[in-house]
Amino acid sequence: MKLTLLRTVAGIALMTGAMAHAQSDYPTKSITMIVPFAAGGPTDTVARLVAQSMSKTLKQQVIVENVGGAGGTIGAARVAKAAPDGHTIFLHHIGQSTAPTLYRKLSYDAINDFEPVGLVTDVPMTIVARGNFPAKDLKEFINYVKANKDKVTYANAGVGSASHLCGMLLMSAIGTDVTTVPYKGTGPAMNDLLGGQVDIMCDQTTNTTSQIKSGKIKAYAVTTKNKVASLPELPTANEAGLPNFEVAVWHAVYAPKGTPKPVIAKLEDALKIALKDGTVKQRFAELGTEPVAENRATPDALRTHLKAEIDKWGPIIKKAGAYAD
Ligand code: ASP
Repeated sequence: MKLTLLRTVAGIALMTGAMAHAQSDYPTKSITMIVPFAAGGPTDTVARLVAQSMSKTLKQQVIVENVGGAGGTIGAARVAKAAPDGHTIFLHHIGQSTAPTLYRKLSYDAINDFEPVGLVTDVPMTIVARGNFPAKDLKEFINYVKANKDKVTYANAGVGSASHLCGMLLMSAIGTDVTTVPYKGTGPAMNDLLGGQVDIMCDQTTNTTSQIKSGKIKAYAVTTKNKVASLPELPTANEAGLPNFEVAVWHAVYAPKGTPKPVIAKLEDALKIALKDGTVKQRFAELGTEPVAENRATPDALRTHLKAEIDKWGPIIKKAGAYAD
């Protein structure tokens, strides 16, 4: 009896030692960073910049894998079921906090199936349209959309995406509804906006800035409280005629639930280094955003932020009455 107990204790000690060793060796192979939207879009852009820097720090490739569809929930579900060893991580946006209310049923729990690593950035959104859309400012845009609601098409990345959230709030603010066209991400949606196959969209500056600057699409407003330095001529929605209309998109990094604490700590360190990386900072600035302050790039800050955002958006989404199955 005693001998068995001793053997068990010794076995546990050995196992614990082996696990600790594995964790101190982490990462032992390349890391997959799941992005729950198509390549070429704004979440993908943020992820690729961060992944490149994290690869240098972690001395293993951080490879971005795009798992788009259903507004980001397909990618999230994949991460929730992945092995919790730090070799699969997740970069998602505000959708992690809106999907639990937007979807009547989700195959994962947005809080309990993930280990938070840290926040990455806050990104403004912009209200945009195809280049030849017949409205020169936000007031004309609103009038045109209302008068032509049966023919205007709104591109988004599916229920649960930021472009869906912004569009839903916009339509509810102006008291109308238009046909939505869902894509696996706003990268492909932007291609169709440029081609004139869809009419309007609301998307992150990380996807719209260069197209606005080149004049290929029309921009009517930025959805944040303050103007964006990289697009100084663009008014805020508030200034342009939509009082109190505000949406900002935050991004964050997670790992599957159960990922060991020392592994999360290494990921957190690598994320913090990425957010100080000169190339990351410069590209973020050009795209209308900036890295979060270091004290927000932590598991605790993300845990608190995610809960607060779920609580914030829940009643707003319920009031707008938008649900998906
Ligand atoms: N910007 C998209 C969204 O609407 C997602 C993406 O393609 O990155 O959430």
